[in-house]
Amino acid sequence: MVLLIRSRQLFNFTTRHGCQYKRWYTTPSPPPSSSSQNKEPFTPLTKHLRDSIKLTGPMTTAHFMRQVLVNPLSGYYMHGDVFGRQGDFVTSPEISQLFGEMTGIWYLTEWMRLGKPKKTQLVELGPGRGTLMSDMLRTLSQFPYFYETITGVHLVEASPGLRKMQRSALVKDAEEIEGKVEKATRSDGINIYWHDGAEVIPEGWSCIMAHEFFDALAVHSFEKTEEGWRELLIDFDDTDETPYNFRMVLSPTPTTASKAYMDENPLYAEHKIGDRIELSPDTWYTGQSLADLLSRGGGTGLVIDYGQDYAQGDTIRAIKKHEIVHPMSDPGSADLSADVDFAALKVAMGKYSDITTYGPVTQSKFLQSLGIQTRLEMLLKNAKTSESRTTLIKGFQRLLDPAMMGRIYKVMSFSKENDTSKSAKPVGFE
Ligand code: SAH
Repeated sequence: MVLLIRSRQLFNFTTRHGCQYKRWYTTPSPPPSSSSQNKEPFTPLTKHLRDSIKLTGPMTTAHFMRQVLVNPLSGYYMHGDVFGRQGDFVTSPEISQLFGEMTGIWYLTEWMRLGKPKKTQLVELGPGRGTLMSDMLRTLSQFPYFYETITGVHLVEASPGLRKMQRSALVKDAEEIEGKVEKATRSDGINIYWHDGAEVIPEGWSCIMAHEFFDALAVHSFEKTEEGWRELLIDFDDTDETPYNFRMVLSPTPTTASKAYMDENPLYAEHKIGDRIELSPDTWYTGQSLADLLSRGGGTGLVIDYGQDYAQGDTIRAIKKHEIVHPMSDPGSADLSADVDFAALKVAMGKYSDITTYGPVTQSKFLQSLGIQTRLEMLLKNAKTSESRTTLIKGFQRLLDPAMMGRIYKVMSFSKENDTSKSAKPVGFE
């Protein structure tokens, strides 16, 4: 995804609940105008959001994000295929097969470093179209001594439409099926299982992948005010100032989340008035579930995403047809995401004393440590047409170029170390 820096403006106003809130806009939203605007039409999802706000008042950005992305009614990911040139955004595995090949090789190196266990399982959170897992399995099948240890592939996916796409990508000749996909068997005998959450993945020595998954998890947003930290909330907007039906407002009083996470937290004591912070308890909880899985059964994992090694504010962004759009515009029709706070993820996983975390390092450094250049040269030698050579080179550049995905995307790893692994660090994190 392309990341743009946005500016913000705040305006004081009073809601129909009689509270003094501040309103929040991000570019490229239109500035408030005195002329009346046509409001966006309602969808089943936005009617549901409006009705719940009318009933219980403004909702947290975390609740809003969860509803917009994975509400079964018409959450963004529930529509099915949203990826690629025809869709809203493109991810690394969709750009180049090199990405899945390199990450597949990384798991092989980890399996060796961690003592070559006899039984392993692959786990992926948010597998999208299934391209990454498919590329990794194809690569790993070239190494039968590891491939034969794989007892199953466990996928965590909320979207029924995407589960079906993943099944088509991973199981050849998969016939059409009705209802939710729970399990399928590949021709090589490997079983694929679908799960609703990380906490229900069965115990086993695991190779975990979370690529562009954590950025889809909900964040709470806070702003430092004269009175202390206050939470930013989503309210229904029936004014004629913008075309949107929702707006971001600042809670005048402490909320459950601001009291729980911000008040008296030494990490946030030094911030200036006006500073903003996003926190993602969903990320911490999922991180802990993954650490718990490794702590019980052993294994290793990768988190690859955009973000920083510290908490930030104002990173929630909406992307539609490869463009940034206003986060309040037609919720459910655009991807909504926030930068990952890798530091918080490491703290969450670090609650398990036998889990070690590494990084984050840049995607460029990680892929180069794995020998992506050599693999590119090999593929170029075997490429039959100049067109396929150009595609390979362009894909390689997009993954590595610091101005594209090479620097913004970060790679973090976590593993349960053992005696054989103590002296060596994972490839890419030395
Ligand atoms: N990893 C893929 C897709 C990234 S998009 C790629 O890189 O191409 C995010 C993925 O996470 C989608 O498959 C989406 O349906 C899934 N997802 C988002 N929120 C989720 C949640 N709360 N629970 C389970 N899956 C979720």
